[in-house]
Amino acid sequence: MTPPDPGQVAALPKADLHVHQEAAPRLDRVLARREERPPYDWAAWRRRLVAELPPGQLRLGSLGSAPILMELDDDEMFVARTVDILTEHASAGGCYVEVRCGGDSVLRDGFMELFRTAEHQVQTVHPHLRAEALAVFADLTAPADYLARKADACVRAAAEGLAGVDFIVTPYGSDADWSVAYRLAEPLAEAGLGITAHAGELTTADLPAAARMPGLTRIGHGVHAAYDPSLTQLLLDREVTLEVALSCNELFGVLPATQEHPLLTLLTAGVPVTLATDDPVQIGTTIDAEYAAAAQLGVDNDQLLQITRNAIRAAFTTAERRTELIDHVEQVARPSLH
Ligand SMILES: [Zn+2]
Repeated sequence: MTPPDPGQVAALPKADLHVHQEAAPRLDRVLARREERPPYDWAAWRRRLVAELPPGQLRLGSLGSAPILMELDDDEMFVARTVDILTEHASAGGCYVEVRCGGDSVLRDGFMELFRTAEHQVQTVHPHLRAEALAVFADLTAPADYLARKADACVRAAAEGLAGVDFIVTPYGSDADWSVAYRLAEPLAEAGLGITAHAGELTTADLPAAARMPGLTRIGHGVHAAYDPSLTQLLLDREVTLEVALSCNELFGVLPATQEHPLLTLLTAGVPVTLATDDPVQIGTTIDAEYAAAAQLGVDNDQLLQITRNAIRAAFTTAERRTELIDHVEQVARPSLH
């Protein structure tokens, strides 16, 4: 295998379909810059995580557990921490990012307007950047009237540019009941929202239910499908794109430790794969580091470029923006391949 050329990998256009807003860690970073103090030490947090918790579900469950306060999270801070996400993405060679705004973000007054304010601010420095927002349903055991109110807010926000919805069905990684998620997803898909779900990160158990979800075109992670040919075939049959987060998988130890990451297996099988940072502040990664990690696994430059094209094709964005992004990707790609 020819070793990857880091310069060529860095020059490739990149996209990230799976970034959580990490509200508290981003808020801390914004405040740290303003207060001229160091931000929370995530590298030390990761070292403790690896030393103290077994790989898999327990380690994964510690995401979002660091003691950071969310007070002061007003509209100005929402914009500032969103600017932080988008700037980080664009500075790492990214041209398209989808941000998953969890919790009650979609219920916030003027949510989409604030998101676009952040996007416009970053576009003054990175004019090719395009960003979209997704809402997240992570607790489907919440009262039905709350879920209905949130779903209504998603439909309203869709008219204002909300791009999609992400579902995390619990117990995560198990053969859970997806009926509530299916019921919620149907009208959201009809409202034009893209549907994705977290599955296949810890086990294969939740993949069949995820792949059959109404309106679903993408799965967050899904990498365990590589261990079962029938599931790989299911993804191919349903034309599901995977959002693969290499550093995230490694830190949380969700794959068999003795085997190499199955990214290449999925690519070779023809599954449309994209690369993602997932929770970049906590995990300590960027989108260019994810592309470099894929290159280290043996993914060549043509395949990396295909990964970006896969992302633009599977993006929950408008037809107009998709065309702009395709043009941009091909323009950037041309010199970097020669
Ligand atoms: Zn995720």
